[in-house]
Amino acid sequence: MEQSINTKCVQAGYTPKNGEPRQIPIVQSTTFKYDTSEDMGKLFDLEASGYFYSRLQNPTNDYVAAKIAALEGGAAAMLTSSGQAANFFALFNICEAGSHIVASSSIYGGTFNLIAVTLKKMGIDSTFVSPDASEEELNKAFQRNTRAVFGETIANPALTVLDIEKFAKVAHEHGVPLIVDNTFPTPVNCRPIEWGADIVTHSTTKYMDGHGAAVGGCVVDSGKFDWMAHADKFPGLCTPDESYHGITYAEKFGQAGAFITKATAQLMRDLGCVQSPQSAFILNLGLESLHVRMPRHVENGQAVAEFLEKQPQVASVSYPTLPSNKYYKLAQKYLPNGGCGVVSFELKGGRAAAEKFMKNLKLAAIETHVADARTCCLNPATSTHRQMTDEQLEAAGIPAGLVRMSCGLEDKNDLIADIKNALAAI
Ligand SMILES: *Cc1c(COP(=O)(O)O)cnc(C)c1O
Repeated sequence: MEQSINTKCVQAGYTPKNGEPRQIPIVQSTTFKYDTSEDMGKLFDLEASGYFYSRLQNPTNDYVAAKIAALEGGAAAMLTSSGQAANFFALFNICEAGSHIVASSSIYGGTFNLIAVTLKKMGIDSTFVSPDASEEELNKAFQRNTRAVFGETIANPALTVLDIEKFAKVAHEHGVPLIVDNTFPTPVNCRPIEWGADIVTHSTTKYMDGHGAAVGGCVVDSGKFDWMAHADKFPGLCTPDESYHGITYAEKFGQAGAFITKATAQLMRDLGCVQSPQSAFILNLGLESLHVRMPRHVENGQAVAEFLEKQPQVASVSYPTLPSNKYYKLAQKYLPNGGCGVVSFELKGGRAAAEKFMKNLKLAAIETHVADARTCCLNPATSTHRQMTDEQLEAAGIPAGLVRMSCGLEDKNDLIADIKNALAAI
């Protein structure tokens, strides 16, 4: 019988042998010792698996990556230094100068910037589509050089819900993988691979860590995308890598191993966005209680959203599991146990009202952060999304008076009392 995700949160990824530490060891070592140069040579040739330098791989990181792979139902995973690095690696592992990406316009500001500005400077083009686009509209966004489709299960901060099955179907019809950033629901509330996603990414900085303690990211490969069937599109995986003695990743490591092995051997080697083993240890502490914490975040988010919806100072509330929400149906399908603790709402009175409201909150702090134990809030137009034009903000569904509130693990009645006070001050 397959273990429940609850058990996997606690125990997957690391099984100590007789007499070994019960908790995962922090391997605080940059390097690893070998008896012969032949042993070491095999590692460099990717003939044997093992560790040689912590810029590429470290045992602590691998225990935790294996846990996240198990949680998502993936074949392999790697930790990265941040969520930004995870999305960059997921895309850059299959895109190069001359490639093109189709991305949902409703995504995290940092990822929007990565795709629209930084990847563009590297010669990778992109077309943004509405998360609500029909199959026909999605089809129109594809070009001959399209190499990936990207979206977020629940978008940060717009809280749109991605129709994963639809996006996966269209991506596959065009012979490219769907990459889904699953940071907000976490695998406890949604597992995109079960709905057809090929690659899943995370900012582990958020709920997975869950305590605002360590920045990190993760890339999970489903192992289900047949790279060789589209070899012309993915030369990096399907033709010999001269920087690795002519290894062809998709041949040597198969469908289940190629993507993460290449990202480790090539991108981590050259770009070095590795997570520190200390951070991986902290991340694992968070993962051990993820299945206990997520339901409480959802309970608090739902209670706050329902309360806000009834307040006269509030123009609109965006929370996918409210029956009034545009994404309610999709949420019922993809998020039957709820989504996350993040609630977005627009105050009547725009930026000024948002600033007054936030100043008067006592429990909820103003932070450029979401998804940890302590409730916090933010006005995206004046912070995370200030690089976007008003048109881009509108397209991403982020009006100027929008407040994003991340409900933590406090008592919901205390949170509602705090919000009530702050609303009265506007
Ligand atoms: C925060 C976030 C990121 C970026 O992650 P960092 O760990 O801050 O680099 C990417 N995607 C989503 C959905 C996020 O919320």
